[in-house]
Amino acid sequence: MIQAWSEAYGFLANILIGREREIYHQHQIAPNGWAGFKKFRVARKEMESEVITSFYLEPQEGGAVPAFMPGQYITLRVPSPCGHTTMRNYSLSDKPGQPHFRISVKRETGPEAGTPDGFVSNFLHQGVNVGDSLEVGPPCGEFFLDLTEKHQRPLVLISGGVGITPTMSMLLSALEVTPDREIYFIHAALNGRTHAFKNTLRDLAASRKNLKVHTRYSEATDGDRATNGFDSEGFVDGPLIESLIPSRDADYYFCGPKPFMVNIYHQLLEWGIPATQVHLEFFGPRQGLQKPATCPV
Ligand SMILES: Cc1cc2nc3c(=O)[nH]c(=O)nc-3n(C[C@H](O)[C@H](O)[C@H](O)COP(=O)(O)OP(=O)(O)OC[C@H]3O[C@@H](n4cnc5c(N)ncnc54)[C@H](O)[C@@H]3O)c2cc1C
Repeated sequence: MIQAWSEAYGFLANILIGREREIYHQHQIAPNGWAGFKKFRVARKEMESEVITSFYLEPQEGGAVPAFMPGQYITLRVPSPCGHTTMRNYSLSDKPGQPHFRISVKRETGPEAGTPDGFVSNFLHQGVNVGDSLEVGPPCGEFFLDLTEKHQRPLVLISGGVGITPTMSMLLSALEVTPDREIYFIHAALNGRTHAFKNTLRDLAASRKNLKVHTRYSEATDGDRATNGFDSEGFVDGPLIESLIPSRDADYYFCGPKPFMVNIYHQLLEWGIPATQVHLEFFGPRQGLQKPATCPV
């Protein structure tokens, strides 16, 4: 019996190692690609909101950046305080085909007084400036908008907070590659202070007939209400989505904090949307999206 288990584990391990080698090889042979980590220079650093800052990264030794699919992410490897290194993933927030990768990072603060702030996000916000060098892994990830599939169905991009980063890349790419497709961009933010890409989205919505943008604030301030910088108040939920889109039959891509993801995921399941039309990225482990059991098991 033990012999059979050990053979099964060995078999599975070989499949995984083989797959890892294959991905490594694909990154290496891709035009402008590389395997492992490569040095990039911070070419621009721009505040998108009080908590989110974008970093424009260009290959340190020159040359172009590789193609990627909108929605994919890169991995940064940075020095850790104990003298080793630590890695974090960041979705690419600009469209492919630019001379840079753009990542947009939320500065994570400790959840309670006395708890430490997020290490890498604060290192990037406070310690990394234009001209500095960062170690970057090649773009990867299974959450992406496949622009070769020319669907007639509307595209619905839904984001909460910093979950806007992959949907922003999808939006910019879809507007370019499928300029006639109906696109609904629904974003949840706390308020105007944390609302990233506000002006870009406002300008796109004003200039593109096929794009509808709706922003809902859960903690709007009096200043937000006075300046009319958002569309509604509350949480992004099924009734809001349904009130904005022409029919439930759409391709949905969504990314955001856990309660937001759980609600939208279960709403789409309840509507009977086929799994092939539901795409999601969660910036934490995916099993965290299960609804809590009513009885502890
Ligand atoms: C596929 C993918 C794409 C992503 N894309 C983006 C993106 O585009 N933009 C983005 O901003 N993020 C993105 N993330 C999240 C990102 O990878 C990091 O997880 C995030 O930046 C936090 O990292 P950190 O090092 O700052 O925080 P960490 O140091 O990892 O801490 C995480 C949280 O725990 C808290 N914490 C730390 N130590 C303690 C403690 N002892 N007690 C209590 N609390 C503690 C911190 O305050 C922080 O809130 C993505 C993640 C994935 C998986």
